[in-house]
Amino acid sequence: MSLVIAMDGPSGSGKSSASKGVARALGLRYLDTGAMYRAMTWWMLEHGVDVEDGEAVAARAGEAALVSGTDPNRPTIEADGTDVSGPIRTREVTNAVSAVSRVPAVRERMVALQREIIGAGGIVVEGRDIGTVVAPDAPVKVYLTASEAARAARRAKDLAADPGASVEVTQAEQARRDELDSTRKASPLAKAADAHEIDSTELSLDEVIEAVVRLAKE
Ligand code: C5P
Repeated sequence: MSLVIAMDGPSGSGKSSASKGVARALGLRYLDTGAMYRAMTWWMLEHGVDVEDGEAVAARAGEAALVSGTDPNRPTIEADGTDVSGPIRTREVTNAVSAVSRVPAVRERMVALQREIIGAGGIVVEGRDIGTVVAPDAPVKVYLTASEAARAARRAKDLAADPGASVEVTQAEQARRDELDSTRKASPLAKAADAHEIDSTELSLDEVIEAVVRLAKE
């Protein structure tokens, strides 16, 4: 497999900014798999599917036509021909995504789509199960972490995007999502045995990017 960089970790660890930065620095494509799960969730909500009903979600998991752009300077995601890059970041989608992403039929579909995009390589892929499930042969695997306080501070910054929620509420919702993502049966958030763990708590974004670029050049 030519260069595939798997970037896993919990939300707030700085994965997205670091992954895009690494892709730019190395001239690689970029895939945000979280955006795909979010787009699937947006589609379910849009079609009135009860996201807590795993069978109902599974029954319709094959219907949404999802297309991911892989330009790190302009990541896009379309569902049924509509650009849903904005709507997938709403609180409603954020709070429903863990319920949808724990459904095995959803994960099977997402993993197949992701492997198609990853193809021959030349890509940075961020998510929760990239190094463990989607691309276990990836030559570079990173597990990005950060202290709870650092992650909370980053989330607070993101709050500007949704002024309806207080810092406390957002943090509680985030803690619930992390708990669901790391305890679900199907491909929970996990560090691959051969992943390099990078703790970004004390690092600037540029330092994280440099650390990953160094690993890729080893
Ligand atoms: O990375 P982001 O926070 O946008 O991911 C949204 C959600 O998508 C996660 O909370 C998780 O439920 C799901 N996800 C996943 N597997 C991935 C990427 C994201 O289950 N590889």
